Amino acid sequence: MSDERIDVKDVLKLPLQTTSQAKAIADKVPSLEQGRLTVFDPAADNPEKLVQLMRERLTRALATSLTGCVHCGLCAEACHYALARPDDPAMTPAHKADQIRRIFKRRIDWTGRLLPSLVHAGAPQNIEELNELKNMVFGTCSACRRCTYNCPMGVDNAALIRFARGILTELGIVPEGVFNVSRDQWETGNQMGVSETDYLETLDWVKEDLQTELGNPNIEIPVDREHCDFMYSLNPREIKFDPRSVSNAAKVFAAAGETWTLPSFGWDQTNFGLFSGDDKLGGYVARNLYEAAIALKAKRIVISECGHGYRSTRWEGYNWAKYDQNLPSESVIMTLIRYIDEGRIKVDPSRNALPVTFHDSCNIARSGDLVEEPRWILKRVCADFREMEPHGRENFCCTGGSGLLSMAEYRPLRMEVAKIKAEQLKATGAKLVCTICHNCVDGLNDVIKHYKLGMKVVQVLDLVADALVPTA
Ligand code: SF4
Ligand code: SF4
Repeated sequence: MSDERIDVKDVLKLPLQTTSQAKAIADKVPSLEQGRLTVFDPAADNPEKLVQLMRERLTRALATSLTGCVHCGLCAEACHYALARPDDPAMTPAHKADQIRRIFKRRIDWTGRLLPSLVHAGAPQNIEELNELKNMVFGTCSACRRCTYNCPMGVDNAALIRFARGILTELGIVPEGVFNVSRDQWETGNQMGVSETDYLETLDWVKEDLQTELGNPNIEIPVDREHCDFMYSLNPREIKFDPRSVSNAAKVFAAAGETWTLPSFGWDQTNFGLFSGDDKLGGYVARNLYEAAIALKAKRIVISECGHGYRSTRWEGYNWAKYDQNLPSESVIMTLIRYIDEGRIKVDPSRNALPVTFHDSCNIARSGDLVEEPRWILKRVCADFREMEPHGRENFCCTGGSGLLSMAEYRPLRMEVAKIKAEQLKATGAKLVCTICHNCVDGLNDVIKHYKLGMKVVQVLDLVADALVPTA
């Protein structure tokens, strides 16, 4: 590994990527014309604009994290970047946050204005330094909040990273992948740019395949049906790459005798605004979903298996969208628990005989508070369930969190620090690793492939569908 070691200075010097921005301008992308996205303007006074935006967007919670760090170093023991590179101080969470903190101190807080060198204050002076900041906040942190959870002072380093990402996004100083996915979500309402025709056609053939598989022509995947018990929402990956997931959901819902529907628009529960720090995008996506559920007069919103989608839809989206509603929302995990608990479906653990371990999604366990719930299900649908160590709120990131899967330029560093996750997975001896996040599926598959672990990634719905006992 030492021969392949990446110099973090090289990561921080990765150039500002403008290919897609230039293409976007040429294509007259509506989201640019409408001012939803910003293209980097080299003629603007970007260092000054950064400080202005920082001042405007500062909240009491962020100021607490900016001023609360005592540099005890405990967070270095929590971060997979720092653990994988123990001799590299640039990987410690406190150092990363310090690159944002020093700007705050230099230009906003009185300490750095009076005694800049004493408090290590300093602000970016040019685009090269802003670009380094971009590479640091997007490329060396997966915003997993493990350091936050382990900080005795309550400093939320991940919130600071998101704060800086949001400001840089507003200046157009973003990785190409972040720009592209944001554009797709603005323009099509979903982050994979799935057209309405492709969405409806995919649902149609998934339904037909399921009817054939079960020999039941009455199985449905309803769209835009009113007055259902719930409106289901998806990760676009389920439509584009893994329709098995929608199929398994439809199979289980049918077995439970559920009345449910998908909306024709507003079905994407993922939200790139959480990753890019763009609250405008976050609010737009979340509002589409909430309004779809209200329009369909659904009794609740059910969120399919996705970590950041769950966090965005259930917790953060209401604030970004400034949206108030009484409609309850829940993870599909809670729906499945109800089905099993109330005897609406019967499951047989012997149908899943291979050893299974569970990977907690950071956005669900640490930031969403569902820890015991998926385990409650797994212990009923698998014959050999094994915990990973550490697990639950202390679990390590799949390494692909915070949109990193869309930023190819940071992949070499991500794969290097993934050795922490790889060691954790290998030690379980499990053949299957189950997770409740589509993003984690891709992150884990990358780790498994890179470290040749020979494991298969599955999700809770897959295991429940496989364990279903047909009833007469
Ligand atoms: S654990 Fe908290 S207080 Fe200690 S260095 Fe890290 S962020 Fe600062
Ligand atoms: S949020 Fe996660 S990846 Fe980022 S610094 Fe903290 S522990 Fe490391």
